[in-house]
Amino acid sequence: MHHCLNFESKLAPYFDTEKGLSRGQRVGHKISTNPTNSINSMNSTNPNRPKFIVDHNVGKLAKWLRMLGFDTLTFNGENDSDMVAIALKQDRVILTRDTEIMKRRLVTSGRLKAILIASEEPEQQIRQVVDTLALKDKFQPFILCLECNQPLVEVSKQEVEGRVPPFVFKTQNDYMECPVCHRIYWKGTHWLAMTRKVEKLLKG
Ligand SMILES: [Zn+2]
Repeated sequence: MHHCLNFESKLAPYFDTEKGLSRGQRVGHKISTNPTNSINSMNSTNPNRPKFIVDHNVGKLAKWLRMLGFDTLTFNGENDSDMVAIALKQDRVILTRDTEIMKRRLVTSGRLKAILIASEEPEQQIRQVVDTLALKDKFQPFILCLECNQPLVEVSKQEVEGRVPPFVFKTQNDYMECPVCHRIYWKGTHWLAMTRKVEKLLKG
């Protein structure tokens, strides 16, 4: 595969987003990585949909998983024990490339689920997670903010007028908003491209 670099650049605009113009900023498709705002967990617990905490060494997985609708925290702390504690408390699967974590008794005993990610390539990484946990039929795109991991809420077209580019407003009717960062999401051309990419990736 020669598309690894492209792959990442295509990830961000899976949802087309626009931060509310009323807040005086246009963020567009640029998505920054801010570790601190990711520790706002949803409280919804569905035993059939695993939740994740991703170690900093596989941090790119977070947006992928959120994109597919899986509640995912990122961990950028110093102390692995903190990550383990959060995972245990919130019933999250740890994703890491750190073999030391895999040796912990909580993990070896099966009390805590962790997956040792084999590849350095995000494409291979997401595939490993999807295959290992048989997630293929559990995708729910368009429900989580890629940035905050918060459930998106529906907003009417009227409400986003002036907050999304005019072209988008003209061509799109369905919008979702993140209640935390107020990014607005819609299913634009990037969304379609990304959907195809995911389908292709999971087939191959
Ligand atoms: Zn958000």
